[in-house]
Amino acid sequence: MRVIVGLKEMLAWANKMRQQGHRIGFVPTMGYLHDGHFSLIERARQVDDIVVCSIFVNPAQFGPQEDFGRYPRDLARDESLTEKAGVDILFCPRAEDIYPDGFKTRVSVESLSGKLCGRDRPGHFGGVTTIVAKLFNLVKPHNAYFGQKDAQQFVIIRQMVEDLNFDIQLHMLPIIREKDGLALSSRNKYLNDSERKAALVLSRAIKQARGLFERGIRTAEEILAGAEAEIAKEKLARLDYLALVDMASLEAVKVIAGAPVLLAMAIRIGGVRLIDNTIFNEENLWKTTWN
Ligand code: AMP
Repeated sequence: MRVIVGLKEMLAWANKMRQQGHRIGFVPTMGYLHDGHFSLIERARQVDDIVVCSIFVNPAQFGPQEDFGRYPRDLARDESLTEKAGVDILFCPRAEDIYPDGFKTRVSVESLSGKLCGRDRPGHFGGVTTIVAKLFNLVKPHNAYFGQKDAQQFVIIRQMVEDLNFDIQLHMLPIIREKDGLALSSRNKYLNDSERKAALVLSRAIKQARGLFERGIRTAEEILAGAEAEIAKEKLARLDYLALVDMASLEAVKVIAGAPVLLAMAIRIGGVRLIDNTIFNEENLWKTTWN
């Protein structure tokens, strides 16, 4: 595995690989890697013959009161794990190279970026789309892999790729969870024992909603009420939002019909903000919504 820091080096390498006819798979991350990230790397290894993983804690996607400074970082560990996982290039650019003095451009996907997490985190998705656009231009991947854990992020990046004509195939892979249901996240490290227990309320709320759906319930009112009641049982949890939205437009739906619908939520436990989601009618996702 080669570690690349410089932007010119990354670009030169990507151009060379493309000239030689290689297929580049790309997994962008903020590091402190866990099995959620490795599931993306694993898929990239199956599909592409070259795998690039980037690690960049992107200052542009954190608000002034958010956790940029204390976001967990362990590059030595990430380096040894990515090497074992079969990554070819670990791309770890420097913030001063990504955002040099005089940097003025921002890529922002309108409307979608202001919904759900975008309401609680103004500017967040603009930061995400700006860095992802830059990384796509530097890594020049044929395929890029993202987790459903950040489903809204995927919907927004997908829109950006379509609107800006990036010639990249996007993949969204399932949420990897701990045995007890908690979705893996680098931010889980912030939780103490009682907060870790309380965090299970997210997957419990999802289970409750899925149970209602499986029993034939289709109205947003009933499904959201079921999930909300579950969340209300946990005294340490404060709900940021809980929403049932169309997977393409992220607009609220009243009834789950045939189209894919996203149940998304964010809660705060102590100072930690956690998200989780599930998709109803997922089998129709690539057939209907996204084709
Ligand atoms: P992050 O390092 O948190 O920016 O995440 C990098 C990529 O890993 C994103 O596409 C995330 O959606 C994905 N990811 C994070 N957690 C999980 C998880 N538990 N399961 C699957 N993918 C995940």
